Amino acid sequence: MENLFGLPVATINARCAFLDIPAYRARQIAEWMYRKGAKSFAAMTNLPKRLRVDLDRSFSLARAKCVERWDSSDGKTSKFLLEFSDGVAVETVLMRQPYGNSVCISTQAGCAMGCAFCASTIHGAVRNLMAGEMLDEVLFVDEILRDEGEKVDTMVLMGSGEPMMNYDNVLAFLRLVHEPYCLNMGYRNIAVSTSGIVPGIERLAGEEIPVTLSISLHAPDEELRTLLMPINKKYGVREVVAAGRAYAEKTKRRVTYEYILIRGVNDGEKQARALAALLRGQIANVNLIPINPVVERNWARPTEEEIQKFCRALERLHIAATVRQEMGADIQAACGQLRNRHITRAQDALTNMPLRRIIR
Ligand code: SAH
Repeated sequence: MENLFGLPVATINARCAFLDIPAYRARQIAEWMYRKGAKSFAAMTNLPKRLRVDLDRSFSLARAKCVERWDSSDGKTSKFLLEFSDGVAVETVLMRQPYGNSVCISTQAGCAMGCAFCASTIHGAVRNLMAGEMLDEVLFVDEILRDEGEKVDTMVLMGSGEPMMNYDNVLAFLRLVHEPYCLNMGYRNIAVSTSGIVPGIERLAGEEIPVTLSISLHAPDEELRTLLMPINKKYGVREVVAAGRAYAEKTKRRVTYEYILIRGVNDGEKQARALAALLRGQIANVNLIPINPVVERNWARPTEEEIQKFCRALERLHIAATVRQEMGADIQAACGQLRNRHITRAQDALTNMPLRRIIR
């Protein structure tokens, strides 16, 4: 049975053509699913009863199931493992920030990019998420917040997966959350993070949707970046930064360069200077992310002093830089960590982690 959840109004209308209903019904169905949290056709009380029965016979409204939830000890970060009908599970994170509620969305189950520091890629790519599955992630969190009189304010596509390798579904998802009958979310409140897939960056620049582009750079030279991010062999540092520059010029939006700080690997004065030279003259800022050590990997986080030193070195060279405020480290909120625990639970030796487990 086809699932109506996750489809835009025009598609719902086309699917329901055989029912011979007026066009405004599709919009009502969408509003019930996306704005009012209806989980059944029976709950859609402004539809004729006969139509509700027909819809129920023809379509499903299947949603993901939350199989695990973790809350950080300060209560600000919650991480959910959501399982789709085929048993594939992804992570979604809610961060209660001073400026609003932000949700971090996965765009693929697993990831094929092979970055050396990232937990998402350890088990490889499983599959792309459909637009409706990404919507399910954000609506799941939004529905929790609605019960508290709040909502999702901003969204980052920075969970597991490479958005540009799932381009069409990601675009359909971005357009859907923007719809007034859905979350009515402004594009300026959305950030899309990429490991630097140049054709994807170029395509996104032409979509006329003013989302913030974040580019995971992590090293200023080819050799080091290739070591950390194998995709650099295909799209090298210079090409990626040129695509970021073109994106900023075309969209007039400031590009964020994400730079993980790994002790003794990419956090030296030499790298700060090379990074500043690379970005000079670009409308950009650098977001420094002290590496979240991943159990499966062997990289260490610099000291607070070393982090500040790197940040100040960039500022001295007139590059706007901020250090990312870390959230949810005590609940393994870095990319892919919860999913990996889920996958490897059988052989998981880490049974005494300082975590508060809520569901299961
Ligand atoms: N594939 C996209 C989006 C997902 S990753 C991308 O590469 O941008 C989101 C961000 O988290 C990226 O900047 C990624 O490099 C970073 N990240 C991954 N593992 C991390 C870790 N262990 N510590 C800190 N940041 C990490």
